[in-house]
Amino acid sequence: MLDYIIVGAGLSGIAVAESLLARDKKILVFDDKSQASSTVAGGIYNPVILKRFTLAWNANEQLDTALTFYNSLEKKLDISLIQSLSIYRRFHSIEEQNNWFSAMDKPYLSRFLDEKLVASINPHIPSSYSFGHVNETGVVNTELLLEKYRAYLIEIDSFQEDTFDFQKLEINGDHCIYKNWKARKIIFCDGFGLKNNPYFNYLPLNGNKGEYLIIKAEDLKLEVAVKSSVFIIPLGEDLYKVGATYNNWDKTKEPTQDGKNYLLEKLNGFLNCDFEVVDQIAGIRPATNDRKPLVGKHPVHESLYCCNGFGSRGVLIGPTVASQLIAHIEDAEILSEEIDIERFKKLYQADLS
Ligand SMILES: Cc1cc2nc3c(=O)[nH]c(=O)nc-3n(C[C@H](O)[C@H](O)[C@H](O)COP(=O)(O)OP(=O)(O)OC[C@H]3O[C@@H](n4cnc5c(N)ncnc54)[C@H](O)[C@@H]3O)c2cc1C
Repeated sequence: MLDYIIVGAGLSGIAVAESLLARDKKILVFDDKSQASSTVAGGIYNPVILKRFTLAWNANEQLDTALTFYNSLEKKLDISLIQSLSIYRRFHSIEEQNNWFSAMDKPYLSRFLDEKLVASINPHIPSSYSFGHVNETGVVNTELLLEKYRAYLIEIDSFQEDTFDFQKLEINGDHCIYKNWKARKIIFCDGFGLKNNPYFNYLPLNGNKGEYLIIKAEDLKLEVAVKSSVFIIPLGEDLYKVGATYNNWDKTKEPTQDGKNYLLEKLNGFLNCDFEVVDQIAGIRPATNDRKPLVGKHPVHESLYCCNGFGSRGVLIGPTVASQLIAHIEDAEILSEEIDIERFKKLYQADLS
């Protein structure tokens, strides 16, 4: 008898697995690499929404939990995951500069917005209106995390590289049977794969496709991340991630020519050195209408749960929300209404009628 089956080993599945292993639960994780959001992610943790200069949802609280979480994974997996990386917002007008200063008066934002503007950060990224520096930002190497965490799960005999086949699931009141396994509960951490999940696809997960270009720019020598019309993030060895796009209509997984054209147009608007495109990657963010995660118990089946809807901020949201879900299941702690999927119960009922 397993305690839990987890479907998905992206940022959500890993955070859920860690919460359960910390409680000595016996788990089995399935993943078929059908979704790539966590793998292609920029991995940036940044508490500030740089378009509007507002605090991302609960980001100040999530930041400490996330750093402690990735720090403990660094030790456990014996790898380096977190890199502190400065982010500079390139201003496009005086008005944007003024908005930056006004934002400092908003709750919690003064901690993250540097009051001293910087006139220049790199000769190849000029700005007539200076740059604002965001404090306490960095990047988590999500691709390495996913690879090493899978290897760890295999080592402890808790991983199946396989598609979870819903046809083979039998739900028997307080437990489930899946193929040869019996489990007390199943937690779906399937990202945009939720669309194929017959138990949770009533939830309003929209999905938002994001594409990055990887460029090589030998003259640039940029060691900080810059947010202009798009982000440019240093990867080392003269390589940079440029993006990402936000597309609500295209739900295909492959990189597109339109995405490339869009990113090149934006990049050419602020970068003035030679570069070549060496790669292009894409993934679908599990995004929701109300920009809040989708967490909690199925409306009817006691043993089925989901932990999803991290949108464009899985690095920060994942560790906090996953541990809240496990505390809810194991210690009967109440889930906050804003993340509990109970808020969409009516959609489930409408689906049945
Ligand atoms: C281009 C881009 C850039 C981003 N940049 C950032 C960033 O800088 N910072 C940040 O915080 N966030 C970023 N994000 C968002 C972040 O990637 C997501 O919030 C996060 O990865 C979601 O994690 P998840 O585990 O819920 O979903 P996913 O990563 O999609 O994981 C779901 C997993 O479930 C598996 N799965 C699904 N169905 C099945 C099934 N039936 N059987 C077996 N396995 C299954 C999939 O293979 C997948 O591994 C970005 C996203 C994109 C697309």
